[in-house]
Amino acid sequence: MIIVCKNTASQKKIDALIEDLKAQGLETHCSTGALSTIIGLVGDTSRVDLEALEALDIAEKVQRVSEPYKLVNRKFHSDDTVVEAGGAKIGGGYFGVIAGPCSIESEDQIVSCAKAVKAAGANFLRGGAFKPRTSPYAFRGLKEKGLELLLLAKKETGLPIVTELMSLDHLDLFNDVDVIQIGARNMQNFEMLAEIGKCNKPILLKRGLANTIEEWLMSAEYIMSGGNENVILCERGIRTFETATRNTFDVSAAPLLHELTHLPVVMDPSHATGKSSLIKPLAKSAVAAGADGLMIEVHPTPEKALCDGAQSITPAAFADVMSDVKMLCHIEHKII
Ligand code: PEP
Ligand code: MN
Repeated sequence: MIIVCKNTASQKKIDALIEDLKAQGLETHCSTGALSTIIGLVGDTSRVDLEALEALDIAEKVQRVSEPYKLVNRKFHSDDTVVEAGGAKIGGGYFGVIAGPCSIESEDQIVSCAKAVKAAGANFLRGGAFKPRTSPYAFRGLKEKGLELLLLAKKETGLPIVTELMSLDHLDLFNDVDVIQIGARNMQNFEMLAEIGKCNKPILLKRGLANTIEEWLMSAEYIMSGGNENVILCERGIRTFETATRNTFDVSAAPLLHELTHLPVVMDPSHATGKSSLIKPLAKSAVAAGADGLMIEVHPTPEKALCDGAQSITPAAFADVMSDVKMLCHIEHKII
């Protein structure tokens, strides 16, 4: 981090600032020019409050030269993190496929879907019991009953389950859930992130609707700073000016995140596009871009789905996607 002091800054105030920074455990390097003094900070600056420094009357400009996140940073943890849940692995060469309906609707729907996605090669079953819906009048999930049905499908198939946590009040109901999903709308619910950081269950952290890669990594840092190292990032499309697709699939997120972090990256072409016809090509693009896994919405009868039918694919279409995904994983040296 670099602090450029105003040319009007007195030496007394500069010295006081340097003392204050040293007291925070930071090493400082000062360079005094004809017009201004520049203070360089060395050490772990992730806890330094940039805005407080900017508010100093002697500060002209404050700039970070290293990332504000530490625990998720690849620089301090060069090996890929492999997240394990219910016997399945994601990351570090293991490719994980999470498939299932947007929401759990009935026993028959979730159990038949679970059997079909397992047969096609999925290694996780997804399904929402608590659904974040834009309209309060839309179907908001079967809630506790939905979780019971999801657990039944887990028992029938042996597939580990992934489902969204919408409120910390429900955490006790999630004891037998293998991976807790934090949805796009809660990516910056910092109380929730801090709390789930205290449990040791794997967390699937979806990217916020309009959040930058850095904001997303800072949210993962929240979870990790609570002690939970099992974080999987999920790219699910971002808001752009384009309206032809539900969101814009940021395929660059996978290779870029692999440079910045050791955490595994899963791609969700379903929420990214909102269109069933685009799932296969974009799932393939995700594998080619080096993703560690996929999340795909599958419904036995998409036209009758109570949520996200337009982006859901049939079990037969999913099996077709999986056959190409498996071939591409082979090329990418991924274990699927
Ligand atoms: C979902 O996975 O069903 C979901 C609601 O996703 P997102 O939070 O990405 O919109
Ligand atoms: Mn959905």
